[in-house]
Amino acid sequence: MSSPSCTLRLCNSLKELDPADEGYATRFVDCVLVASREVSASDLHLQPTDAGLDVRWRLDGVLQSIGTFPRGESTDPVTRLKVLAGLLTYRQDVPQEGRLQNDRFGDAMCGVEMRVSTFPTLRGERAVVRLFNNSDQPWFLDDLGLPADISDTWHHRIAETSGALIVCGPAGSGKTTTAYASIRQIVNDTDGGRSVVTIEDPIEVEVAGVAQSQVNANSDFTMVTGLRSLLRQDPEVIFVGEVRDPQAAGITFQAALTGQLALSTFHANSAAAAISRLSDMGIEPYVLRSCIRGILHQRLVRKLCEDCKQPIASESDMAGWKIETRDGIFASATGVGCQSCQGTGYRGRMLLAELLVPDDGSIRQDLISRSEVSEIEKFAVANGMVTVRERAVTAIRAGKTSPAEARRVLGFL
Ligand SMILES: [Zn+2]
Repeated sequence: MSSPSCTLRLCNSLKELDPADEGYATRFVDCVLVASREVSASDLHLQPTDAGLDVRWRLDGVLQSIGTFPRGESTDPVTRLKVLAGLLTYRQDVPQEGRLQNDRFGDAMCGVEMRVSTFPTLRGERAVVRLFNNSDQPWFLDDLGLPADISDTWHHRIAETSGALIVCGPAGSGKTTTAYASIRQIVNDTDGGRSVVTIEDPIEVEVAGVAQSQVNANSDFTMVTGLRSLLRQDPEVIFVGEVRDPQAAGITFQAALTGQLALSTFHANSAAAAISRLSDMGIEPYVLRSCIRGILHQRLVRKLCEDCKQPIASESDMAGWKIETRDGIFASATGVGCQSCQGTGYRGRMLLAELLVPDDGSIRQDLISRSEVSEIEKFAVANGMVTVRERAVTAIRAGKTSPAEARRVLGFL
């Protein structure tokens, strides 16, 4: 977890390094990666600017600046990352991506998967490292922190032998984490008795007991060709991460129709919007109707720091939320400088989720024949779905998150 002033501590450590030193880039990279792991940062950004190398990290979903540092006189931290990831150091004009070998860091980075991507900009190459710490990951469904009613229903759904289950949300909403926890749960519940095969772009986390494969556009191993071959591999459960085009969506749903459980992630801003987007992609209503066993939509909001949260003081603290009573509603104490949250006012995150389960045949028929997102949602709510927006209101009322944070994440839903 974050320790007090870890941002400041890293900034000071980096300032102490000598840019003229031959080992500058090596020490720089070691220092930022180890610190990123210590604070559980999910991403590390190195961006060249006029003044040097701008370093930022993402904590609890929010980007924070570490500072701007020299690039090094004879060595460069971005080049060092490229070497560690086995990228072509002489090519600085094309985007590249690779995986960092973490064994050179010894125990310091043990269990952390790191992917580097570089991108040419006007001021030089920008690098982003994405960090996945396996020991920080929610392992099974119960570890995700989903509302209990959703967790129970989802648990039943993943035990089914056919149909489609979709986890949706925008980028950074934790949908891949939920998908991986679901897969681990399937493997665990059946003691490895079900044949689980994945096709991913890219593989983010390795899951024991599962045959994972990664598309490779250079060798014509695409989502579509991969899915076709995969279905000849006698799978019982397939995971597609993530469905992006109509063709891949079509094959996934065909699989779900013909006796496989198909789990996939999908970019959509609500469960109702997912149905509408799939229809727009050309998936026939009868296919959606017969296939969909559940659409889980989720968002991650930061939790208020228990040490410094404050009762809301004015209407502006409500950030536009119309909630009748203000009892028990708290705002963050941003800038006040509590040690345990580094002055951000927040510590850790929680999931807000909604689960659309078109169970009954007539409900399914009605639900999927509607095309407007608002109509689909209204119908789902009438049939028992609790929306993410309502979950947000509950979390605000319980003082777990602030109105401003819920607004930041949900927008004006
Ligand atoms: Zn605090």
